[in-house]
Amino acid sequence: MVDILVIGSLNADLVVRTKRFPAPGETIQGEDLAIIPGGKGANQALAAARLGAIVSMAGRVGSDSFGPTLIHNLRENGVDITDIRTDPGATGTAIIMVEASGQNVIVLSPGANGKVVPNDVEALDFDQTRLLLLQFEIPIETVACAARIAHQHGVRVLLNPAPAQPMPEAMLADIDILIPNESELALLTGMPVDDRVQIETAANTLLDKGLQTLVVTLGAKGALLVTADGAHHVPGYTVEAVDTTAAGDAFIGGLAVAILQGQALEEAVRRGNACGALATTKFGAQPSLPKPEEVNRLMSLIP
Ligand code: ADP
Repeated sequence: MVDILVIGSLNADLVVRTKRFPAPGETIQGEDLAIIPGGKGANQALAAARLGAIVSMAGRVGSDSFGPTLIHNLRENGVDITDIRTDPGATGTAIIMVEASGQNVIVLSPGANGKVVPNDVEALDFDQTRLLLLQFEIPIETVACAARIAHQHGVRVLLNPAPAQPMPEAMLADIDILIPNESELALLTGMPVDDRVQIETAANTLLDKGLQTLVVTLGAKGALLVTADGAHHVPGYTVEAVDTTAAGDAFIGGLAVAILQGQALEEAVRRGNACGALATTKFGAQPSLPKPEEVNRLMSLIP
């Protein structure tokens, strides 16, 4: 039995820090290139495993030098990699620039992630899974197929609709918790999300279409939990952010593990906030994902 199955992306993150982002057509000097394991799927798998969950990951890497490195890194961090296949061709990569403020811009090249097909999902053992974590860095028909099968098997389904793209309405009924950030919520609903009222209004349109629960992440402000009972703001933790890469992934790992530990949703969101905040205090994606003792320490300092 695994606690969490992640079906999603594995990327090599090619990261350069710069004082500021270049303007179009401009060339600027950055720091040395860092090649760091990433991909929303792999990040969320590792986030949950580092917090103590039994995690299995399904996905694809390429036959280049990045593929084995990414698989090795997940295995070293305790993630079951039996269902990760190797495809001829390129591994997924993310070209990431991080400027002095900690903000990032990212260009994704899907590589093998784009080849994860519904067939891959149908072969998996959903009876042996408590919770499924999905994102949008693999083809959406594969995500929809995974959500449907998991739902049919009574597995709890958490979807992080990132990077933002439209999704079929029918999928909402298979999702237990949707976890968008503000811009993803705006894209999914076609509505403005400039303040709390607008975010709540946009979230409610998704509840009207069959979704049960939304957790909208709000960056440093924390997260908004929206259910049929109403909206509840769970404030974020104040930290010194140096790199926001993987903050959302850390949040989702923390939320998922807390839910499996039987914590109430609001408390699970609070734990997600602590994990997301801690991830912003370190450079890189997977190296920044927090350990349980770090999370407990932050949560005890600021209850
Ligand atoms: P994403 O990284 O997916 O764009 P957010 O920026 O909303 O998502 O961040 C996810 C979560 O990480 C937030 O809900 C919050 O808990 C935490 N977080 C992100 N940025 C900060 C920050 N600067 N300070 C504290 N917590 C943060």
